[in-house]
Amino acid sequence: MQYTSTRNKDIRITPSQAIIRGISDDGGLYVPIEIPSVDNIYKWKNLSYGELAYEVMKRFLTDFSEEKLKSCIEKAYDEKFETQDIAQLKKVGDLYFLELFHGPTLAFKDMALSILPHLLREALEIQDVNKEVVILTATSGDTGKAALEGFSGVEGTKIVVFYPEDGVSKIQKLQMITQEGDNAHVVGIKGNFDDAQSGVKNIFNDIDLKEKLMESGYILSSANSINIGRLVPQIVYYFYSYLSLLNKGEINECEEINVSVPTGNFGNILAAYYAKKMGLPLNKLICASNENKILTDFFNTNIYDKRRDLNLTSSPSMDILVSSNLERLLYHLNEDEEIVKEAMMSLNQKGIYEVKDIDTSDFYGSYATEEETSLEIERIYEAYNYLIDTHTAVASKVYTKYESKYKDNQKTVIVSTASPFKFAENVASSIKMKEAYKDEFSLIDELSKTTGVPIPTKIKELKDKNVIHNTVIDKQDMKNTIVDFLGSGVKND
Ligand SMILES: *Cc1c(COP(=O)(O)O)cnc(C)c1O
Repeated sequence: MQYTSTRNKDIRITPSQAIIRGISDDGGLYVPIEIPSVDNIYKWKNLSYGELAYEVMKRFLTDFSEEKLKSCIEKAYDEKFETQDIAQLKKVGDLYFLELFHGPTLAFKDMALSILPHLLREALEIQDVNKEVVILTATSGDTGKAALEGFSGVEGTKIVVFYPEDGVSKIQKLQMITQEGDNAHVVGIKGNFDDAQSGVKNIFNDIDLKEKLMESGYILSSANSINIGRLVPQIVYYFYSYLSLLNKGEINECEEINVSVPTGNFGNILAAYYAKKMGLPLNKLICASNENKILTDFFNTNIYDKRRDLNLTSSPSMDILVSSNLERLLYHLNEDEEIVKEAMMSLNQKGIYEVKDIDTSDFYGSYATEEETSLEIERIYEAYNYLIDTHTAVASKVYTKYESKYKDNQKTVIVSTASPFKFAENVASSIKMKEAYKDEFSLIDELSKTTGVPIPTKIKELKDKNVIHNTVIDKQDMKNTIVDFLGSGVKND
């Protein structure tokens, strides 16, 4: 299995090289030359999460030895997760919620970021690279903490996280700025997620800086979903949820199901697309957006137009206008680098692109307003006594729109991406807890008492942690910040 760049088909690199580099020098993203297919998924029926992860991931990470890949999986999916089965499928009314938030940072990002550091270490060994890896991460709220947690204490790595100062929830921010360990650097930027992400991409494209870092013994990599090492582990839980439905007798072999995915950077739902291409019987991939509905517009018009203001919503991890992984989908739909290059150049220069003659019928795109999201949390809670977070509510609401439009009654999995306690304020007000609370933690206590849902341990622990990182910078200072953090060995001009 080899990888190429979405912007240069001549590139051929191995999986371990793709993981180390993160992004191609031409600005493109790495994609597998061919998505591997599986002839019989049903023989995997009785596998544990880890065993299934091995079967899926080995098809993409072909230069990892069996022993090494299995060891990465074992180190990732262990007691760090509060539930033994790692991903939990809950039946709620006629729907199934795939809970992916029982990891150490209480969002689905843990599914990939608990294994990425181990994959990266192996990749460095395979490639015989003796440099310290500097992980650059832009976060809309959840990736940052999940990456900090994943890389904390991993030898030979340093990690720098940039988050939008006013664009994340209180708990998300607290999780990041209390991060311990001297390999971590957490920095707020005066700007939004798109600013953070494009800043990081610019640094990756700064060949001069990369060379200087090399000379000083550093190599840059990324923990964002532009890294293929993030994407591959996410494919696993789509297989897992399908096989769980099968094992529970909820569906028959070969029966198609829909998945509804709360979407921001298009990573999670792209993993579903890969699973479908591998042969998993998925029908519609429902791309659910919040009021920043750039993807909804794209699927309806084939026009991607970012010339609009970013709204800060109650689902901050989806407050994104440049959904990086869509570039991968464009590539797979065309297999034509020229179309991708042209589109991305146009996006850069004019803020808009149109792609003609593509078939996006695997997807249905729609969005939920802030009010609809809040009402959906209330509806699900009142009807089923089941508490969902704001992101999950977007997916759930958009599914109801899909269902009433197409009268499609196939079974549907709603991908549940975060613990409701991470977004307690919005969740509490949605279920009509209207009082004023003296701080976030009293609110969380009350939310737990009212609903009977236990507070995750990691949130309780957060209360007594000290703030360690309080740097906030202008968005144009990201490069200098990195150079400063890495010390005087790196020259910058
Ligand atoms: C990151 C995130 C999303 C969006 O996922 P993408 O892969 O970026 O589309 C949705 N919900 C939560 C809670 C997240 O952290």
